[in-house]
Amino acid sequence: MFNHIKPSAPDPIMSLMEAYMQDPHPKKVNLGIGLYYDHQGNIPLMRAVHIAEQRLLEQQRPHTYPPIEGSALFARQVQTLLFGEAAAQSARHLATVQTVGGSGALKLGADFLCHYLSRREIWVSDPTWANHWAIFEGAGLRVNTYPYFDNASGELRFDAMLDAFSALPEGAVVLLHPCCHNPTGTDLSQAQWRAVIDVLQRRRLLPFFDIAYQGFGDGLEEDCFALRETLKTDLDFLVSNSFSKNVALYGQRLGGLSVCCGSADSAANVKGALKTLIRRSYSCPPTHGSQIVEALLADDHLRQLWASELASMRQRIKQTRVSLAAGLEQGGTTLDYRRIRDQKGMFSYTGLNEQQLSQLRQQYSIYLVAPGRMCLPGLNQHNLDYVTAAILDVTLP
Ligand code: PMP
Repeated sequence: MFNHIKPSAPDPIMSLMEAYMQDPHPKKVNLGIGLYYDHQGNIPLMRAVHIAEQRLLEQQRPHTYPPIEGSALFARQVQTLLFGEAAAQSARHLATVQTVGGSGALKLGADFLCHYLSRREIWVSDPTWANHWAIFEGAGLRVNTYPYFDNASGELRFDAMLDAFSALPEGAVVLLHPCCHNPTGTDLSQAQWRAVIDVLQRRRLLPFFDIAYQGFGDGLEEDCFALRETLKTDLDFLVSNSFSKNVALYGQRLGGLSVCCGSADSAANVKGALKTLIRRSYSCPPTHGSQIVEALLADDHLRQLWASELASMRQRIKQTRVSLAAGLEQGGTTLDYRRIRDQKGMFSYTGLNEQQLSQLRQQYSIYLVAPGRMCLPGLNQHNLDYVTAAILDVTLP
C-alpha cells in the first residue's frame, strides 16, 4: 500500500540542528535554528513565565476543552499587544483566534484565503523563511516572490519592491514581515512602510503580516508600526503572530491569527469561517501556553517583568552584533561586517558564501543556515572569539 512513497526531503533547518546535535566537536557552535539562547548558551525559562505558570498550577484547573477559537481573553490580549489601545477604539473590526504557533496561524490564514476568498496565489519576499513556501504551497497556493533584498550589496531592494506591488492585480495577497525580517534581518524604515501601505491601498492589495519576533527589533510597540499604520486605513488584512520567541514558549505552540474587517458583522462571519476551518482540522487549540500568557499579560507586574526580560534579550543580541562586527573589522575581514552590526532581530544575512559556510562547518563545526543566515543569540562570551577567528579565517583575502 505504501511502497510507492519515496523518502521525503528533510527540512533544511531542522536537519541542520540534528547534524549539530550529533557533531562530537567540543567547540561546536549552533548559529542555525531561530532560538534565543542566553549568555550561558541556554534557552531561558523567562521569570515572568515561570511565575505565571506556578500560579496556574496552584489553581489546579481541570484540563477541559477550550472553545474552538481559543480563549476570548487571550484574543483580546493579542489585539492589544499588536495594535495597542487603538484596537478597541478603531473603526475597523478584528476577528482573532488562537492558533497552534505562528506556523498554525499561517496555515489557517492560507486555508482561509483558499476556501473563503478563492485565492490561488500569494506573493512573498525574495528571500523569505523557507517554511512560508512549504506552508502556502501545502495549502494549495502558488507562491510568487517580490524583490526584497540584494545579497550582493546587502541592500533592501525597496524601489523594485514598490514597483512589483504596483504591478500586482487588485486583491493580490502579499506576505509582509512587520519586523525582524527572516532571514535577512533587514527591515523597512517607518517612511518606507508608509510608502508601502500607500501602494497597498492604491492597488487594493490584501496584506498578510507575519510577526514572529515582536519585541526583538526596536521594542514591543515599535515593532508593530506597520500593523498600526495599516489599521488606520480602510484596508482589510490578516496578521499571524507567534509567542514562540518573545515569551520563549516554543513547545507550547502558541500564536494567533487576526483578520481586520470593515464591519462588526463581517468580523463575526470571518471568525465563524476560521472556527469552521479549525474544527475540521484539529478541533481546538491546546490550553497550557495560552493560560500562561493570559495570566502574564493580565497582571501589570508580570507584564512589566516580561517586557523588561524581553528588552534584555533584545539588548544582548544588539551587543552581540556590535562585538562580532568589531572583532571582524579589527581582524581585517573582507566580509561586510556592517550588515551584522546593523540588521535587526535574531538573524543576520551575513553574505558568507556557500564555500565559506561549508568551511565553517567542516573545519570549525560552526553551523549557519544556507545561504549565510546566522542566528545571533547562538553567540556568547564562551564562543564569540572562536567564531570571530573562524569567520576571519574563512574570509581573509
Ligand atoms: N514566521 C516566521 C517568519 C518565523 O521565523 C517563524 C518561526 N521560525 C514562524 C512564523 C513560526 O513560528 P512558530 O514557531 O510559532 O510556529
